[in-house]
Amino acid sequence: MSDGSFNLPIYLDGHATTPLAPEAEDAMSPWWHRNAANPNSPHRRGIAAAASVEEARANLATLFGASPQEFVFTSGATESNNIAILGVAAAAEAAHDPRRELIISAIEHKSVFSAAKSLKARGFSIHVCPVRRDGLIDVSTFEQMLSERTLLVSVMAANNEIGTVQPIAALLPIIRTVGAMIHVDAAQIAGKLPVEFADYDYASVSSHKLYGPMGIGALFVSAAAQYRPRPLFYGGGQEAGLRPGTLPTPLIAGFGAAAKLAVGRLGQDEVHCRTLADRLVAGLEAHQVRFRRNVENLNQLPGSLSLGFDGIDSASFVNVISNDVCISEGSACSSGQIQPSYVLSSIGLSKSEIDETVRIYCGRYNSIAEIDYAVNAIAEACKK
Ligand code: PMP
Repeated sequence: MSDGSFNLPIYLDGHATTPLAPEAEDAMSPWWHRNAANPNSPHRRGIAAAASVEEARANLATLFGASPQEFVFTSGATESNNIAILGVAAAAEAAHDPRRELIISAIEHKSVFSAAKSLKARGFSIHVCPVRRDGLIDVSTFEQMLSERTLLVSVMAANNEIGTVQPIAALLPIIRTVGAMIHVDAAQIAGKLPVEFADYDYASVSSHKLYGPMGIGALFVSAAAQYRPRPLFYGGGQEAGLRPGTLPTPLIAGFGAAAKLAVGRLGQDEVHCRTLADRLVAGLEAHQVRFRRNVENLNQLPGSLSLGFDGIDSASFVNVISNDVCISEGSACSSGQIQPSYVLSSIGLSKSEIDETVRIYCGRYNSIAEIDYAVNAIAEACKK
C-alpha cells in the first residue's frame, strides 16, 4: 500500500489483461474443490457442474445479444480466432465452395493474421485492408476489396494497441451484398462497450479481457451462419464436437459471472473509464508533459490511451516507472520483439513516433487517487 488507499504498482494495462472481478472469483471458488466435477459426468455433482456451465453460456448470450447454443467455450480469443478462420476455410473446402478469398484489416491481432496467412498454402488469397491515420478502416477501400469470391471477412471490433473501435455496422450491409461471412474479433470490446453478435456469423472473446479468469473464452457461431466451422482437433465430442476436451467448470463459472456483471455495469464502467482517461490526460497537460495522443479520443474504447511522449524511449520508460505504474509499450503482445508495432506503423506513425508510444488502459477497478498518483509518476519520469 502506498498511502493506505491503493496498492503499488498501479495497474493500467487492461488491454493486456484485466484483474479478476471479485464476483467472478467467488463464482469459481466452489468448483475447484467442494463441488468439483466434470460437467459431462452423469452423477449429481456432474449435473450441477453442467448446470453451472449452461448458466454461464446463458450469461454470455445475454451480454452479447445471442442464443446460448451459439456459444462454444474455448481457451480464449486466440483459439476462437483460429477456429473461426481455419475452421470456416475447411468447411468451405469440404463443401467445394469456389470462394477462396479472405479480407482482414491491417491491424488484426496476430492470431487472425497468422491463421489467415497460413491459408495461403491451401490456395486462399488474403487481402489486407489498410486503416486510415485515425485507425479506422476506410469503408470505400474495403468495399473495393470485396467481391463474390470473398468467403470471409475478419475484422476486430476494437484494437488492442490503439483502442480504436471499427465501424462494423457500416461494413455489414456491404459484406452481405456479396454474400460473404463475417468474423469479429471482439476480445477488446467485450465487456467494455455494448456489442451485439446477432448480425455476425462468428465472434471471438477472451474472459480475461472482461474481468473474468484467464484461460477461457468463447467462439460465437451464429445459427444462421452458412458454415459451422470444422473442428481443429478431435476428442470426446464436447461442445458439439467443435471444441472437444473436458470443460473447465471453475473457469467457465468465473467467465459467466464476469459476463453477468458486465451486463449490469457497462454504462457505469464506460463513464468511469472515460473519466479516468480524461483525468490522466488533463493531469499530464497540467504537468506540462510533452506528449501527443496517437488517435482521437472519439474513436477509442473508453479508458484507452495510446500516447507518444516526446524524446522518450518507451521500452526503457515502461521499465523505469514499473515500480509505480504498470503500462505497456505499443503492444504487450509484441513486447520483447525487436520489430516496431505493425499496428502503429499501419496508422502511419514513424519509427521514432512508435518508439515513443505507450499504451494505457484505465479500467473498472482504478480509482481517481490511482490516476493522480500515476500522473505524478509519469510526469516525474518524463522530466528525468
Ligand atoms: N484478439 C485481440 C484483439 C486481443 O487483444 C487478444 C489478446 N491480446 C487476442 C485476440 C488473443 O486473446 P488471448 O491471448 O486471450 O487468447
